[in-house]
Amino acid sequence: ANSLLSSYGTTVFEVMSRLAIQHQAINLGQGFPDDRGPDPVLDAASKALYDPPNQYPPMLGVPELRQAVAAHNKRFYGIDVDWQTETMVSTGATEGLAACFLALIEPGDEVVLIEPLYDCYLPMIRRAGGIPRPVRLTPPEWKLDLGALEAAFSERTKLIVLNNPQNPASKVFDRAGLEAIAELVKRYDAYAVCDEVYEHLCFDGRRHVPLMTLPGMRERCVRIGSAGKTFSLTGWKVGYLTGPEHLLQPIAKAHQFLVFTTAPNLQRAVAFGLGQDDSYFDGLRDSMQAKRDRLSTALAGIGLEPAVCQGTYFLFVDAKRFLKPGEDDEAFCRRLVTEAGVAAVPVSAFYLDRASAPTDFIRFCFAKRDEVLDGAVERLADYL
Ligand code: PMP
Ligand code: GLN
Repeated sequence: ANSLLSSYGTTVFEVMSRLAIQHQAINLGQGFPDDRGPDPVLDAASKALYDPPNQYPPMLGVPELRQAVAAHNKRFYGIDVDWQTETMVSTGATEGLAACFLALIEPGDEVVLIEPLYDCYLPMIRRAGGIPRPVRLTPPEWKLDLGALEAAFSERTKLIVLNNPQNPASKVFDRAGLEAIAELVKRYDAYAVCDEVYEHLCFDGRRHVPLMTLPGMRERCVRIGSAGKTFSLTGWKVGYLTGPEHLLQPIAKAHQFLVFTTAPNLQRAVAFGLGQDDSYFDGLRDSMQAKRDRLSTALAGIGLEPAVCQGTYFLFVDAKRFLKPGEDDEAFCRRLVTEAGVAAVPVSAFYLDRASAPTDFIRFCFAKRDEVLDGAVERLADYL
């Protein structure tokens, strides 16, 4: 019975969001922005809705979006992509990841994962028959231990999942880390599934470097983006994959039986969105960075000192001094949502083995209006 999907717990994001609603808490748990999203992209979606067809789009996605994905790769990273054979639209990055795992993993294959890890990877990898080989980043800087990374690879390694920028550690991998990963992927003739949904949220002058751009990696990487993050429209569930034909072909075969396709008007609006000028992408990053600074400063002011946040829209803090004896991060988050009226997410939820995971850290999402961030900190200040 242990291998049944029904034996999995409900995702921490849903659990915390339900508790937030139940207790009328300010929800800084689940990661989603609370503004409306960019008007030009919304307009493009509503126009496209009245501009048929509204029937099944092509299985790989509408040509406009696939062309826009190819152009986006070239514009931001200099990657030359054939939109017809090397791009695919998915129903959110989540479905794209599922299609990658179902297509590329055979039972018994080993999959290298970097912990803390985004919570949908593990159940899907296990369901595909993969054997997880976790490598832990070392908190609070979340340093990549190159020795541990190397030890996780073997002749049985099929792929590594690299989430960069990384949720929940808010880490942007540096070139040395990427080079080490690339070297191992090549040495063991493996692949990399690159979850790059936060590609446009790198702060303090950092630039996102897709693993795919490193020497010899073009043929070994699939990279995944999401309109949810890039246009602050998480409910749309439009994702996009870029990869060499020999990988995308089997991935498309899995995708065809998962969802087949994605709402056509949303695809066309995202195509428009990806073509916006630099001021859109710079503005998104700058506004998120300002929110990061606002929340960090305010949390530090009440003794919740945030660690460095290099990217994504999450901040995590060391809550140790506020934990009651025997209390871990999860119990603390439950106490905060019910008693302080603020939802956060326990970082231990992002580990395979919770029992040995660090249990002092909690994650806040700062992609919220300023008054919401201020209101949350006020509640925390009153409570703690
Ligand atoms: N990967 C990571 C690292 C995420 O944080 C998220 C959450 N938004 C996703 C994938 C899922 O993206 P989507 O909503 O496009 O399925
Ligand atoms: N990616 C979001 C987060 O990390 C959650 C997405 C979801 O709830 N599935 O909070």
